[in-house]
Amino acid sequence: MKKIAILGSTGSIGTQTVDILPSIDAQVTALTTNKRIGLLETQARALRPKMVCAFDEAAARDLKIKLADTDIRVLSGMDGLTACAAESGADIVVTAVVGMVGLLPTLAAIDAGKDIALANKETLVCAGELVMRAAREKGVKILPVDSEHSAIFQCAQAAQGNRIAKILLTASGGPFFGKTAAEMQGVTREQALRHPNWSMGAKITIDSATMMNKGLELIEAMWLYDMDPADIEIVVHRESIVHSAVEFADGAVIAQLGTPDMRLPIQYALTWPARVPCRAPHLSLTEIAKLTFYPPDYEAFPALGLARRAAREKGDRGAVLNGANEAAVGLFLDGKIGFADIAARVAHALDSIPYQRELTLDGVLAADAEARRLARA
Ligand code: NAD
Ligand code: MG
Repeated sequence: MKKIAILGSTGSIGTQTVDILPSIDAQVTALTTNKRIGLLETQARALRPKMVCAFDEAAARDLKIKLADTDIRVLSGMDGLTACAAESGADIVVTAVVGMVGLLPTLAAIDAGKDIALANKETLVCAGELVMRAAREKGVKILPVDSEHSAIFQCAQAAQGNRIAKILLTASGGPFFGKTAAEMQGVTREQALRHPNWSMGAKITIDSATMMNKGLELIEAMWLYDMDPADIEIVVHRESIVHSAVEFADGAVIAQLGTPDMRLPIQYALTWPARVPCRAPHLSLTEIAKLTFYPPDYEAFPALGLARRAAREKGDRGAVLNGANEAAVGLFLDGKIGFADIAARVAHALDSIPYQRELTLDGVLAADAEARRLARA
């Protein structure tokens, strides 16, 4: 039986992870939330983990009262999140928290020799170099949950020792596909939160609208598959059926297809290399009938170019890009800045913060803090 810790179990990926548990032979060792303690209590009573964490201190105090009749340990803050990742007795940790808050617990889990089912892309964007190095040193597997990266992982199994020449990273294009920058000037929070194909947390939904999500995924793919970002092509594919593809030296392209449902990539990260029946609906190609592909519009979606630049330059640029983006998306969701200001603030942070090539954990944390400060100023 596989022992699983789920960080961010109350979110979109977290609840879908809980949903597929009956399909796999698993025991949950830890669950965490920021503040959604009502749902966390329900999950904890059903799954009986050894420990749980509410990141928010006040929420953790309330959760402790709610779970007082159980023997489940209730923790809080970064120490609690890290303990759930590294000390709950898990074999594999699902990192489904949103944002770079996932970095320290992910590193702690790797250090403790736990495999990682990685949904939390911000961790690789900020510190991919450090995370992948730590995983290599500890012999830990990083199994991708992000649908595109799971697709690439599945396609890469056709490589048989051959190098992947190119990655075709597909993108839905988000709610504003086909619009010019000028047409997107005044879009509202509600419009940006209306994703055509996927139901996800607020932050990643805004990232999909700006297409920063695809930029973050470009960097995520670069680190996961040790690719030159120039060999990762972004392809807009409105139907979200082809989840991504890889190309080999002879020109053969291998793609993974499926309905847009995160439960398959989540489950595969937990059962790999086995495949077991999944609750996600199966694909009917004849019902879909038509698949379309377009080049991305780098002018209308400047976040793509900013992410490409950070991918090329490496060092602390991923941390700067991500920190500024997290802060700017937060401001947009709070109604404090406009849609176009998100990319503008990220660009400003990349232009203003001095470049550090050598990456250390302290350097990542410092770059992140400075990028957030600038983006909020
Ligand atoms: P979400 O907002 O729905 O859930 C986030 C989870 O993290 C919740 O459990 C929340 O309580 C917790 N959390 C939030 N802030 C926290 C903090 N400061 N400290 C500790 N915990 C905190 O987000 P989501 O859509 O599930 O996305 C989670 C991650 O997975 C993100 O990195 C996202 O990019 C990635 N991802 C999501 C999807 C998707 O379909 N939702 C697809 C691919 C990748
Ligand atoms: Mg994705």
